[in-house]
Formats: sequence, C-alpha cells, structure tokens
Amino acid sequence: MKIDGSCHCGYVTFEAEADPETTTICNCTDCQKMSGAPLRVVITTRPGTFVLLSGKPTEYRKTSNSGVVRPQAFCPTCDTAIYSTTVGDDPKRYQLSFAPTAAPGHSSAQRLSRQRFSALALG
Ligand SMILES: [Zn+2]
Ligand SMILES: [Zn+2]
Repeated sequence: MKIDGSCHCGYVTFEAEADPETTTICNCTDCQKMSGAPLRVVITTRPGTFVLLSGKPTEYRKTSNSGVVRPQAFCPTCDTAIYSTTVGDDPKRYQLSFAPTAAPGHSSAQRLSRQRFSALALG
C-alpha cells in the first residue's frame, strides 16, 4: 500500500510503498532514545519506493550493538526522526517511524493503528 507522511513541522515530506505486515514495535535502547518514549513503531518500505517530496533530512550513522552501521535521518528544523536505512546501493529499504507521521483520517493509517494496538495487546 502507499503511505505518506511528514515531520512535525512539515519541512520534510515523503511517500513510499510498504506492507502493513512489516509494522514493528521496538523497545530497544536506540528506539527509546530516538522516540523519547518506551517504544517506537516502524514500518519497512518496499525496496526502492521511498521518495522524498520536500525537505532535506540530516543524516548521521549509528553502529548498532550487532555491529551494523545504519544511516539515520531526522528533520533539521524540528528533530522528528524520519527514517533509518542501510548503507550501500539502491534499491534500499527504509524503516519509517510511522505512527507520528500517519495522516489522521488516512485509511492506511487506520489499518496500521489497528495492527499496532493488537500487537500491543499481545505484548
Ligand atoms: Zn520538521
Ligand atoms: Zn529498536
């Protein structure tokens, strides 16, 4: 399905194709620090479908505990986390912090919300 979103201030906007089944709730230390919350909800895009529509996110590279280097991007104005991805060639998959960017009333967002809440109930 098609998803779209933006950072909090609206400078960075994007769209991508993603499968709702890839929605993941993560409570690792990195995700807690990035979200400022006990957990973070991410969705993985289909390879090569992530498109920036406006803005230019700031990127930094973070090495995970398992030794994998992942570029992380955030809005330079409002600090909203936009995506994390892999180093190397396209087509890449992007992990998007989906929950904060889901447009209210968007049918795909509602589908994801249901999945998120059911997953939370299971956890
Ligand atoms: Zn912003
Ligand atoms: Zn995590």
